[in-house]
Amino acid sequence: MSETRIFNFNAGPSALPLTVLKEIQASFLDFKGSGMSVTEISHRSGVFDEVINDTVARTRRLLNIDEKYHVLFLQGGASLQFAMIPMNFLGEGATADYVNTGTWSTKAIKEAKLLEKKISVVASSEDKNFSYIPKNIEFNKDAKYVHITSNNTIKGTQWHSFPDTNGVPIVSDMSSDIFSRPLEMEKFGMIYAGAQKNIGPAGVCMVILHDDMLKLSEELLQGENKTLPNMLRYNTYSSQNSMYNTPNCFGIYVTQLVLKWIEEEIGGLTKMEARNKEKGQMLYDFIDGSNFYRATAEKDSRSLMNVTFRLPTEDLEKEFIGQATKNRLGGLKGHRSVGGCRASIYNATTMEAIEALIKFMKSFASGK
Ligand SMILES: *Cc1c(COP(=O)(O)O)cnc(C)c1O
Repeated sequence: MSETRIFNFNAGPSALPLTVLKEIQASFLDFKGSGMSVTEISHRSGVFDEVINDTVARTRRLLNIDEKYHVLFLQGGASLQFAMIPMNFLGEGATADYVNTGTWSTKAIKEAKLLEKKISVVASSEDKNFSYIPKNIEFNKDAKYVHITSNNTIKGTQWHSFPDTNGVPIVSDMSSDIFSRPLEMEKFGMIYAGAQKNIGPAGVCMVILHDDMLKLSEELLQGENKTLPNMLRYNTYSSQNSMYNTPNCFGIYVTQLVLKWIEEEIGGLTKMEARNKEKGQMLYDFIDGSNFYRATAEKDSRSLMNVTFRLPTEDLEKEFIGQATKNRLGGLKGHRSVGGCRASIYNATTMEAIEALIKFMKSFASGK
């Protein structure tokens, strides 16, 4: 670990693998012998084609998907997807099911309602402050999709298995846990993620879309959606390798390096998951064994990406966060809407960082 770098537990944008940052640094002034930086080359050049095509190929290999899925790079973050999903997939009279598991799901629901689409909130964990993932949900058979948030970045909960939806495709916001574990992709009509938590810098949103969903959106474009602007249509991106306009070249390049790191250094998603489980387990075990710290999510719903916890009082939490920062442990403040503390331990967070955090937590508690 470099002397100047801290242990970074930021929720997003968040830590990237050190080897990735070093590779960016090393190639920054002269990208692949072009004599230019990656931020200076044309997105229409062969050099950039290689970057985007390799990022797509690595995505396919890691998730074990073929050409039935389109791998796209958009801008506007995950938040724009909250609108594009109902816009593209819900025609007149069509419905979709939504599960509300926290702040981001709530925003997705609000956006669909703003567009006056017909949606049902089929389950919610709002009754217990979103501290769990709902079970035994009854889905509507005629829904066009079921929208979920696989990892709830703010509340610290995560779906550990995905529900049986009677064959209705799941559309999942995976902003904070994409590429953290293998997925049964057959269940998903679409997954999407703002890159800035687990796969890259802010400004690029990855969308992985099944061809059936694309076809559904294209049918609507023939009729009632015929005035939908080009930038809001999925097929604008799928038909032009995400280069209808200038994409976020730098963001896609960093994503490529992160996926390369997962494939070549970690060894794929099964190993990534094992590593994430080991890190999460270690931190939760410590919290559970302490009578000072208290985890906020219910045990079977705990996130391996965002560990949310409280101290006995808010004053102690403030002191804890302040002292942690002085000890080079950054980003431990809970989201402003919920308070408390949160350690975001995404893919790039090392075991060394978890050990340093636990060591600090122990010493802080023993002084109280
Ligand atoms: C951070 C986050 C978002 C918001 O992403 P933007 O890219 O900022 O729009 C949406 N969903 C989840 C689960 C998130 O963690």
